Amino acid sequence: MKKVSRNEILKRIREAGIVGAGGAGFPTHVKYDANVEFVVANGAECEPLIRVDRLTMQNHPREIVLGMQYAMKATGASRGIIGLKAKYKDAIAALEEQIRLQQVSDSISLFKMDDFYPAGDEFILIREVLGRTIPEYGLPRDVGAVVSNVSTLVDVTRAVENKQPVITRKVTVGGAVNSPATFEVPVGTPYETLIRAAGNPTVENARLIVGGPMMGALSPDFSGVVTKTTTSLLILPETNPVILRRLTDKKRQLHLTRSACLKCMLCSELCPRNALGHELYPDRIMRSVAAGVSEDLKAYTGAYLCSECGLCATFACVMNLDPCAMNVELKKHLWDAGIKRPSVPRPTEARVFGDLRHVPVKRLVARLGLTPYDGPAVLKDFTEPMKTVTIPLRQHIGVPAVACVKAGDTVTAGQLIGAAPEDKLGANVHSSVAGRILEVTSQAVTIELI
Ligand code: SF4
Ligand code: SF4
Repeated sequence: MKKVSRNEILKRIREAGIVGAGGAGFPTHVKYDANVEFVVANGAECEPLIRVDRLTMQNHPREIVLGMQYAMKATGASRGIIGLKAKYKDAIAALEEQIRLQQVSDSISLFKMDDFYPAGDEFILIREVLGRTIPEYGLPRDVGAVVSNVSTLVDVTRAVENKQPVITRKVTVGGAVNSPATFEVPVGTPYETLIRAAGNPTVENARLIVGGPMMGALSPDFSGVVTKTTTSLLILPETNPVILRRLTDKKRQLHLTRSACLKCMLCSELCPRNALGHELYPDRIMRSVAAGVSEDLKAYTGAYLCSECGLCATFACVMNLDPCAMNVELKKHLWDAGIKRPSVPRPTEARVFGDLRHVPVKRLVARLGLTPYDGPAVLKDFTEPMKTVTIPLRQHIGVPAVACVKAGDTVTAGQLIGAAPEDKLGANVHSSVAGRILEVTSQAVTIELI
């Protein structure tokens, strides 16, 4: 570990444009500007078919253990815990060796978890690893912790030790493709190029999920680009339950809720946030919706507690209803009506036996019709030719970066092309390739490779 001050660590993280790599994209220099007891590294990767965290831990254990030390120094934490699945034998061996080699076993350890969903939800991770319950509307720091994805820790080490910005991203391309694999690609790589690298779809009417099958978004086509937070491109036939769920018409969903909800409460019983003692009862929300949405929208603020994990819809409900989608809709209505998410954390206690309500990933995979696709997706070199990359100026929570290049400029890989405004939440953006700027808009910078 290099001798670098806390302020210098935060500065280098900010300059490198590091954001949470697990999906949310919160700027890391802001998250680490804290004072906590624990840094918990998230290597649980609970979404089926994604292999990025596991492969990152296998291939970059040195950077993860070093990154943990820098994160601990930045946040004042005395303990670092890497939470991962007990079944990740190779990753465990690699990390344990690094903990021994770097002589940090008194402050950094591993926590091995069962293979359940959603183990990677930071509320659940903290409950498992620390036995503490993050309050409703709270954050990990409310219980003395900062959570960082293992890939973020790799980025932190590269930034602190080599001033290297975030310009690549590991992405699993899985599902119905000829050669499922995980690639490390330049940020801005077109989805189409990446899907081609995985051998193209094997099915007619292939649809694309960006992210995991539980929480990922259905893409209208294959035209997007990889960002700092892209974890997975999942190709599936249109008839797969993962796709059908996203294609269900909202009005039909409402109609089904009115006519088919059995009020059996299974959705609440399996809801991971309910298990933490949070006042989230999807069955009650469904019952109210079935009776006709009340004029008093405040009655539905509990929808804000929903993590949108999708378990209620894909695993719990015997009637094929979607309380998760209902919560998403209610959140939009609440927001439009000016009813914001409460900002004061409300302490809760996990329910008795709440920790036992775990859904095994294997069973979830079977329920989602994904068993034929549940292979290894090993790390492969990305050699697909590419003419351009398009790098979004907003790949994070906060305001977009402000472009500091213009069409015609030549840039090197790693050069700053978008700067985060000093006084606002945001993250710097860098060129992921050497090339010539083709176009700059308020949204993105397109670069032709040279
Ligand atoms: S999606 Fe369903 S199971 Fe998941 S947190 Fe929301 S209500 Fe609970
Ligand atoms: S599990 Fe399905 S049927 Fe049962 S209460 Fe929830 S939404 Fe209704």
